[in-house]
Amino acid sequence: MSKESSGITIPTSWRVKRYYLFIIATLIALVLPWITVDGNHFFLLSFDKLKLHLAFIQFDMQELYLMPFLLMLMFLGIFGMTVVGGRVFCGWVCPQTVFRVIYRDLIETKILGLRKRIKNKQLEPDMSKTENKVKKVIAVLLWTALALVASADFMWFFVPPEDFFTYLANPTDHWTLFGTVIGLTLFLIYDIIFLKEDYCVYVCPYSRIQSVLYDEHTVMALYDMHRGGHIYDEQHNKQFTKQKDIQVEEPHAECTACESCVTVCPTHIDIRKGLQLECINCLECVDACTTVMGKLGKPSLVTWSSDYEIVDQKGKTQYFRTKVLAYIALLVGLMIILAMMGSTKEHMLLNINKETRLYSVKQMPDNKFRVENAYEFLLQNTESKKMKFYFEVIPPKGMEGKIIITKPSKEFTAVPGIKKKKIVVLRTEEMLVDDDRQDTIIPITIRAYAIGHEDKIVVFRKSTFVFPRSDIVRGTK
Ligand code: SF4
Ligand code: SF4
Repeated sequence: MSKESSGITIPTSWRVKRYYLFIIATLIALVLPWITVDGNHFFLLSFDKLKLHLAFIQFDMQELYLMPFLLMLMFLGIFGMTVVGGRVFCGWVCPQTVFRVIYRDLIETKILGLRKRIKNKQLEPDMSKTENKVKKVIAVLLWTALALVASADFMWFFVPPEDFFTYLANPTDHWTLFGTVIGLTLFLIYDIIFLKEDYCVYVCPYSRIQSVLYDEHTVMALYDMHRGGHIYDEQHNKQFTKQKDIQVEEPHAECTACESCVTVCPTHIDIRKGLQLECINCLECVDACTTVMGKLGKPSLVTWSSDYEIVDQKGKTQYFRTKVLAYIALLVGLMIILAMMGSTKEHMLLNINKETRLYSVKQMPDNKFRVENAYEFLLQNTESKKMKFYFEVIPPKGMEGKIIITKPSKEFTAVPGIKKKKIVVLRTEEMLVDDDRQDTIIPITIRAYAIGHEDKIVVFRKSTFVFPRSDIVRGTK
């Protein structure tokens, strides 16, 4: 929603839009670990069960080659986002920013009134007052509870909630897990309450690499010094603190020197100095100036735009430029590779080894015979629940129905994660090949499937059936 002020339409503040995104991101992070489809999670990297769940498909650790693709996807996504929108990830999605907004703006300012206004993030509370000390303790306790939830939520992507709460009954048996949760909680308390935005400015490596990704079309919070006036000289020294002083040098300078854009800045910078590494693109300064200038019936001096448009005044920002298109192409390519890998995933593991004895032949009454080949099948149920399995033999054309499975004679149960060894015997009572000079190797296909899930949980393996020389079959040798 927008509102009118002195003839200028003031759009819904970026701050409110960010709050919506924070709420959505928080809900997704909290709810996603609880959603399962056929016992599979959207994302779960389980080290104790050696499984990776991705998009509700379960992969074994042997299939961890997917992880580098996921990491590439994540990093390319963040880099592409930076090329287009600067450090927008920091201001809009990063948990550090979300947690700081919850602690500083919601708990300390809105709930406890420890800070005066959300719009002044630089004015620290007066801690000499007893009332403020009590409020600070309450704020720390509230944040500790939330930090504990956030740490547990983070771990649910590695230990699913259903196991997490079972393990909670015996925490001493799972000290690594609960030690990690407590360690993360302590870190979040230190980080959010004491380190604050210094984490974004001095610790986070992303702030170091972002500047090399920028180009003249990258959008970020920018002060229009052509309209507002040059508050800082080229050496970044502040020249003016009052509008009338600016206007001595630049009579048309519009900046009122109210410093609303400075006091609202969570990283304590003055955007009028130009682009700075510390800017997390939260756009609070844009909102602040939009309000100030809106009251004067003018557009904001600080906008979310590019150097090309605002500083160099060359024209409109180009969003779909070569660099951006290259990132989009790479991301789409990676997603297609991941989707293809996911769709070709096999839902069970099966290894077939033929026994060292090639075959056995048994003479039967009425000139009949039986030829049998034995195999060792190693099967692993990679799903999350117990299932029944069986096999089917697919011989070459013309031999359909002539080779049958005699052992195992019926379906069998396999529990998840445990390799199951099965001796499988294939038999024929037909003269498949009438050759008295040599044995014949017949290519066959084994179809292994889960009962009730024949179209999804099924694998095909190539193998061979050795049929003896005809004199051996007839017993005339
Ligand atoms: S200058 Fe400060 S308030 Fe403005 S976008 Fe950057 S971090 Fe946010
Ligand atoms: S909020 Fe706008 S008018 Fe006020 S100091 Fe910042 S740029 Fe100038």
